[in-house]
Amino acid sequence: MEYRRLVAVYDRLDATSSTIEKTDILADSFADAGELLPELTQLARGHLFASWESDELGVSSSLTARAIADTTGVDDDRIDEWWRETGDLGDAAAAAVEARPQTTLVSETLDVRDVYTTLRGLAAYEGTGSQTRRTDAIAELLADAEPNEARYIVRTIVGAMRLGVGEGTVRDAVATAFLDGSEAAIRDVERAYEVTNDFRTVGETARERGAAGLDDLSVELFRPIKAMLAQKAETVSDALDATERPLLEYKYDGMRVKIHVRGETVRVFTRRLEDVTAQFPDVVRAVDDELTTQSAIIEAEVVAYDSETGDPTPFQKLSKRIKRTNEIEQLAAEYPVTVHAFDLLYHDGQSLIDAPLSERLTCLEELVGQSGQTVVRATHRRPTSGDDAASFYADALEAGQEGVIVKNLNAAYQPGSRVGYMLKVKPTMEPLDLVVVRAKWSEGRKSDWLGRLRLACWDVERQELREVGRLFSGLTDAQLREITAKLEPLIQSVDGRTARLRPEVVIEVEYEEIQESTTYDSGYALRFPRFGGFRDDLGPEDADRFERVERLYEDQWTH
Ligand code: AMP
Repeated sequence: MEYRRLVAVYDRLDATSSTIEKTDILADSFADAGELLPELTQLARGHLFASWESDELGVSSSLTARAIADTTGVDDDRIDEWWRETGDLGDAAAAAVEARPQTTLVSETLDVRDVYTTLRGLAAYEGTGSQTRRTDAIAELLADAEPNEARYIVRTIVGAMRLGVGEGTVRDAVATAFLDGSEAAIRDVERAYEVTNDFRTVGETARERGAAGLDDLSVELFRPIKAMLAQKAETVSDALDATERPLLEYKYDGMRVKIHVRGETVRVFTRRLEDVTAQFPDVVRAVDDELTTQSAIIEAEVVAYDSETGDPTPFQKLSKRIKRTNEIEQLAAEYPVTVHAFDLLYHDGQSLIDAPLSERLTCLEELVGQSGQTVVRATHRRPTSGDDAASFYADALEAGQEGVIVKNLNAAYQPGSRVGYMLKVKPTMEPLDLVVVRAKWSEGRKSDWLGRLRLACWDVERQELREVGRLFSGLTDAQLREITAKLEPLIQSVDGRTARLRPEVVIEVEYEEIQESTTYDSGYALRFPRFGGFRDDLGPEDADRFERVERLYEDQWTH
């Protein structure tokens, strides 16, 4: 299939804002896709990999911009200018290809499979020279592209298709193309996607074997599935009131993993479905030694403990282990971990995700047993009263853990959903008042607005502002507009799409936690920062002090 035909589909998707029309357009193209159906189910959203494949392209926007310049001969600065104007590197690529001096070379017609394979191939380049090889490969592809083709190739590379096609649209389109498009059909496709995380499999199964085929798809070992997400409750008693048959567990602050085991083969996947088996040989050994099972998928929180004090260590220590590619055993000895198991999703050839939590836990407790050293059952209690639950919460904080999770023993497991089957309760951190020192123009529809705020606290000793993080999500359009109006007059200089500002605007920032960080010059970063409102009453000198940030950082481990 020629890539130009897919581009025509993209254009039609772009031309309508109606989700129903988008679904129909996609359904038609799936129905006609023939053997390219797997590729199309992914390319519809500009994806090249299923969410469970750990691969990433490893191509930055600026490297892509370089490839565009290389292949078109258009000046870097012009490309940057177009990019800034539209907030879309894809549009800049189309403009550059349009402006390219006519070449006498006969160019090839691009084929969908070539584009897909070449782009997927970018992820495989490793080692020295890999960046150059990536730029060359992109440049080569763009050399054969028409302006509109270049637009979508670049959008695919940078991961921003801007077509308003989400998981739900692809799901509905599969249900329309190969089933009857009814609510029941959509639910069948949805469930099949939850357990496989892969529209390639779901699309082909729906086409070849219909609803019955989809129903046969199930959780499989070594194909990671998404985690069920927690909702927040303000207090333990609120959480108890909202839960049918409550079980309390410690909420550990570590790394959430799913451990897949078959015989001697063990693989460890993170919440983002990355395979971190190589980084955790100690976990693999412990699973081998301590568990008695043929096959299982265990869900757990992995926590690093200080070998001297026995206290849980901040997440950063553990994240060192996640990133490390050498001297892994040495780091494992330095930061030993405990695996706090809290769910069982598969056991001896059977998926358990539809079974109630009580049943999954009975099974898990048999597996994990009492004698485990490294793999242990998460500390839990079936509360007898509100006071009992409150004292369990106090115990969790006393033990240096983050809080508690209240779960419903009657509930099934819903991969990837925030359905209220588990509620987290933890103390919130006091908000900080911080100065906005830099801001970046947003992308796409919002490209006229300044968002992505860099925040700083005031270091009295050094008499300077030091950055502690950036806030870039959760802002409403109205807030972005107001922020832009306040910040634009303060712009001192512009570098790419980033503006440096006179430090005058102070905002209140809520967050979950303070982490050590090398990204910001304060050495700290706020985790999950949220906009809490403007502090027009405060000047930059009234912003929170660096010393307070340091103290809050220390305190979070002692309370
Ligand atoms: P949060 O990251 O604040 O949304 O809280 C939810 C996270 O808490 C989960 O994704 C897990 O990583 C983590 N967690 C810690 N202890 C447990 C537990 N006992 N059960 C489930 N999740 C837990």
